[in-house]
Amino acid sequence: MTDEDWPDLVARKARPGVIGVRSTGIFCGFGCAARTPLRKNVQLFASREAAAAAGLRACKRCGGYPKTDQPVARARRSIASDPSLELP
Ligand SMILES: [Zn+2]
Repeated sequence: MTDEDWPDLVARKARPGVIGVRSTGIFCGFGCAARTPLRKNVQLFASREAAAAAGLRACKRCGGYPKTDQPVARARRSIASDPSLELP
């Protein structure tokens, strides 16, 4: 966790990496809508796998994926890129 990482976390900016929260034992992707943790409890990881290896569990909201790479966002993108499908 550096001074450069913290503003991205607070702004819920989507970027690679995983936010581990020591106090709750949960990790989030950047951009998650969950409450911003206390900075002193935060530990950054390079990947979901690294966070899980440290004994943390994935957040229920984001699953530990960055905002732009959550399963729902991915599904929406693949639908939008398929010309045979019409969005409601
Ligand atoms: Zn989350």
